[in-house]
Amino acid sequence: MSRFWSDHVAGLVPYTPGEQPKVADLLKLNTNENPYGPSPLALKAIKEAADSRLRLYPDPESRALREAIAARHGLAAEQVFVGNGSDEVLAHAFHGLFMRAERPLLMPDITYSFYPTYCRLYGIPCETVALSDDFALDPQDYIGERAQRAAGIIFANPNAPTGMALGLDAIARIARANPDTAVVVDEAYVDFGAESAVALVAELDNLLVVHTLSKSRSLAGLRVGYAMGSAGLIEGLRRVKDSFNSYPLDMLAQAGALAALRDEAYFEKTRQAIMRSRDQLAVDLAQMGFDVLPSMTNFVFARHRSSDAVKLAAALRERRILVRHFALPRIDQYLRITIGTDAECERLCKALAEILGKAQ
Ligand SMILES: *Cc1c(COP(=O)(O)O)cnc(C)c1O
Repeated sequence: MSRFWSDHVAGLVPYTPGEQPKVADLLKLNTNENPYGPSPLALKAIKEAADSRLRLYPDPESRALREAIAARHGLAAEQVFVGNGSDEVLAHAFHGLFMRAERPLLMPDITYSFYPTYCRLYGIPCETVALSDDFALDPQDYIGERAQRAAGIIFANPNAPTGMALGLDAIARIARANPDTAVVVDEAYVDFGAESAVALVAELDNLLVVHTLSKSRSLAGLRVGYAMGSAGLIEGLRRVKDSFNSYPLDMLAQAGALAALRDEAYFEKTRQAIMRSRDQLAVDLAQMGFDVLPSMTNFVFARHRSSDAVKLAAALRERRILVRHFALPRIDQYLRITIGTDAECERLCKALAEILGKAQ
């Protein structure tokens, strides 16, 4: 607490990102980074963009990048918004779409924990809707009176940290039932096996679909995310952005993102490798006594049937392996484990076998 703060700052509860310690031989399976690294073509484009042109401001509209994203998804550039990581895109969506009198924002009780943080930042009442006992989202919960008085609806698909995906028909039902409400679908992990709701954007002008280059394109350090939706939704985000920072994407980010999106071959190869390793890791963890939720992401969410999650995470840490644990209701016995290379998954399994062997 400081006497210099603005009135609402004392009430903020900032999001806690996964740690980024600098320790040799550390296996980081805690923040869903991609083990394969960015496309070599993206790295080349970034290096080539690093010259004296950096004295100039970048294109405030990121026109070339937005056109490439639009072309990839069969949209017009006016239907694409880009930002400094999808976290910033999401923040602008909260600011531009969800501050509607005192109406609450609907979201699942278990989801990306940044959403409640943005609600506090922007003073948006947050109303959570419980997922079922097996962590499924029931579209019916977002249809009817409660949804009607909401300022908006947001969920991640596939969900984080459960990893579970909802089908397109369910998303379409929710958006169709609430034509006057913005529905934001955060698809940070969609490239690892789920279906993208971007196919519904042409039909549904209330649907905003958010993607990131941090996970499937392995560019978390470059900070590029984007949203796709009707021109009206996108214009709302643009108005917020241009009242906040006209240049959210620097020149290197625009060049790197553009080249990464063009390297379809590298994208395919690496995401397929991650999906294969994930399915193998799920089998291996099940054999060691874990219940593993069905994942469509680059992580698994798993609970051991007899060992405490906090103790397991601590024992892994002693072996220089980081995984993510959330001390939250319903999920405090689960660990979220990022998919690494096959060698990294093997190192994890070996460590777990050792830890669980000792515990018996
Ligand atoms: C990682 C993640 C993001 C943030 O991605 P950035 O583009 O790196 O800001 C957003 N939503 C979910 C659900 C995520 O897991």
